[in-house]
Amino acid sequence: MIVLCAHRLYTPQQEIQNPLVFIEDGTISSISSRDHKEIPRHAEVVDLAKDFSDAILAPGFVDIHMHGGAGLDVMRASSSELPHLNQFLTRHGVTGYFPTTVAAPLNQTCAALERLADTIEAAQSSPSGNATVEALPLGIHLEGPFLSHQRRGVHPPAYLVEPTVQIFDRLWQAARGHVCMMTIAPELPGALEVIAEAARRKVLVSLGHSDATLEAARDGVKAGARHATHTFNAMRPLDHREPGILAEVLTDTELTADIIVDGIHVAPEIVQLFLHAKGIDCAVLITDATAAAGMPDGTYQLGPIQVEVKEGRCTADGKLAGSVLTMDLAVRNVTQFAGWSLQDAVRAATLNPAKAAILGRHGQLALGAEANLVVLSPQGEVLRTFVRGRAAS
Ligand SMILES: [Zn+2]
Repeated sequence: MIVLCAHRLYTPQQEIQNPLVFIEDGTISSISSRDHKEIPRHAEVVDLAKDFSDAILAPGFVDIHMHGGAGLDVMRASSSELPHLNQFLTRHGVTGYFPTTVAAPLNQTCAALERLADTIEAAQSSPSGNATVEALPLGIHLEGPFLSHQRRGVHPPAYLVEPTVQIFDRLWQAARGHVCMMTIAPELPGALEVIAEAARRKVLVSLGHSDATLEAARDGVKAGARHATHTFNAMRPLDHREPGILAEVLTDTELTADIIVDGIHVAPEIVQLFLHAKGIDCAVLITDATAAAGMPDGTYQLGPIQVEVKEGRCTADGKLAGSVLTMDLAVRNVTQFAGWSLQDAVRAATLNPAKAAILGRHGQLALGAEANLVVLSPQGEVLRTFVRGRAAS
């Protein structure tokens, strides 16, 4: 048994002072305050408060929109390269993530999905067998190919496809059922049928890369969409007389929505507006990171797309093409741009994405949850990350 001691803990809904977290076989078996519980004599004690006097324990971050990092692209990396990316993610506090595809030739996408399914199943089957401690791929996010030509961003037009259940099923089969999230433009012909089928298979259907009117967006939600992808980016802009998809995203209190808080994709004031609209229950942080995250300026691949990175700005053909954002920075930015507490910002990077994507007990510190934790400074810097109770180096 391992016992973690710290100064504070966020579950994240609750705050506990002087917490003790008991971990057995990689799973949390008890959470309490030191004031109420004794440490058993045989336990291995990790006193984080000794190394970092104001250490805060929080759930590991969950990034449901991530294309790569550390020079690696999730659609192109081999299974022997992915651990390098996973270790990069743990250094930024991420313990679980959705490798995210971009629109590409269907056979290439299917090949990538098969590889990603392999790594997801490997992570599931060796709960503590991995030699290294690294972030876990939890499921796949299909960003495309069912996107709007008008709002495609940098997704190549040649690879955008009209939605059909048949093509969705082909992708689903290639991924062996590990598709957990799909971004789709609801206004496309055939989209509502695909949304309904994906929702039936427990996929988090997310409205995005969309030119939808308000009505078309609402039809998407009625069909089963429950989320929105990188709010404001690759969406019909908000107009006060023809409000469009953004009005649905910002006013539907049942809908969760994510946003890229890197200070580049969305202005800080609009981040404030978004957080005000979605609140602490429905706001979700994503990185939309590319292979360039954690790397110097240069040229990188995003699936089939070549991305130029200059001073942290990723572009292709002059359009924004993902980010170099890391989740810990996104959390800190939320505290700075909107004045949210660290606890609330953490929630938008942990519990909210995990709940939206129906990821069981991921994204929270709770009895029976995997011991995936991050140790933060009060400023939101990552001091240490634990995956299934083991500390990453
Ligand atoms: Zn993306």
